[in-house]
Amino acid sequence: MIVAEKKCLHCQKTVKGRTDKKFCDDFCRNNFNNQLNANSNNLVRNINHALGKNRRILESLIPVNEEMAKVPKEKLLREGFRFNYHTHLYKNKKGTTYYFCYDVGYLLLENDWYLLVKRKEE
Ligand SMILES: [Zn+2]
Repeated sequence: MIVAEKKCLHCQKTVKGRTDKKFCDDFCRNNFNNQLNANSNNLVRNINHALGKNRRILESLIPVNEEMAKVPKEKLLREGFRFNYHTHLYKNKKGTTYYFCYDVGYLLLENDWYLLVKRKEE
């Protein structure tokens, strides 16, 4: 049997012992896992932040006491809206897809205009 030389996932030193060992010791394993968690926590935090900001932008563009508004794409971009972040999609009976950031959504109209809609309580 050929035993491949394995390197610790944390410090890259050669690991001795069982072939399924991934780390030199507990210290390396803990550090590696902590770093992994920190990275994914950061990712989640950044996405949550982008979603929250998107929601605030959409909401701020819908006049108080109104349920919808039409805005040009340019205006959304100027506010810092990020189109790649949304929480879910909603398809109505006509097959039109709305993109939602929590309770506020948008629909692409013609010529780069968007219809913003606030979702009523269900
Ligand atoms: Zn190590």
